[in-house]
Amino acid sequence: MKNTVISYYSESITASLKNSSRLITGRVGFTIKYGEKLSLIGETGSGKTITALSIMGLLPQNVKCSGLEMTLKCGGGKTYRNEEVFKTVGSGIVYIPQNGLESLDPSRRVRGHLYDTLKKNGCPKTELGERALQMLRLSGFPQPENIIDLYPFQLSGGMAQRVTIALAMTGRESLIIADEPTNGLDRENSDNFVRLLDSSFPQAAKLIITHDMALAALTDSVLVLKNGTVMEKGPSKEVLENPRCMYTKSLISALVKNGMKETPVLRGENGSCPFYSRCPSACEKCSSVTVKTAGEHVWRCI
Ligand code: SF4
Repeated sequence: MKNTVISYYSESITASLKNSSRLITGRVGFTIKYGEKLSLIGETGSGKTITALSIMGLLPQNVKCSGLEMTLKCGGGKTYRNEEVFKTVGSGIVYIPQNGLESLDPSRRVRGHLYDTLKKNGCPKTELGERALQMLRLSGFPQPENIIDLYPFQLSGGMAQRVTIALAMTGRESLIIADEPTNGLDRENSDNFVRLLDSSFPQAAKLIITHDMALAALTDSVLVLKNGTVMEKGPSKEVLENPRCMYTKSLISALVKNGMKETPVLRGENGSCPFYSRCPSACEKCSSVTVKTAGEHVWRCI
């Protein structure tokens, strides 16, 4: 696994409730290599964000991750293991939030945000101005002088997202985690965002949480989650163009461009497949569903 930046596996993530506990994810694992992008896709509540939070050690207090086996290679060749990885948040691991505008302090100009980040990362005071302009230039603003003194409310959604990318540029990042980064952006701005991510962080591994199949198609590999269970994973082209699991097929056919075919709600739950109650192809074989593989393509279905 010479080229692997992050290797992640968790046996389970569980939430403690008042009188009970609830399994949020079970046996989720993946690796991402240098410069590659992996998208985590699935419906709301499937466990995508909680998986990302477990990498950063930012799970809510009542949520516990068990059986964590994680390694992260950072610049300089140092490898962090399991809970040690949490210490790299903000330097080795950089998080790009869901909504660029909401993540910026409305009372501070772009300059203030950039200066804070640069100071935190040890930039000398005398270099702050030039470095801030350089970060904006690299994140797609050809004339950063026109941007640096704007307040967040003066930025469009696409501009705000580019400012969050500028803020993420520490120069030491190994893993970028982007949570629904193209929410609220049109197709052109979404595609630009991915190009910018690649040009800004060419070596970093990128984990992208998304509902957007068009965005997932621009990543190298895809992991499909349903109720915390990995339904399918593999190279994006293979999974999205030749899905083997009925759940992935349903997700793809639910897109507007594919006719938004509804999946019926017909039957009671079946413990072995989280999609059983809505799956159009469910049958008696689904009670003993197994994991199948073909090269790097892995899926759970009959
Ligand atoms: S195992 Fe059965 S219920 Fe689950 S996705 Fe496949 S066909 Fe549908």
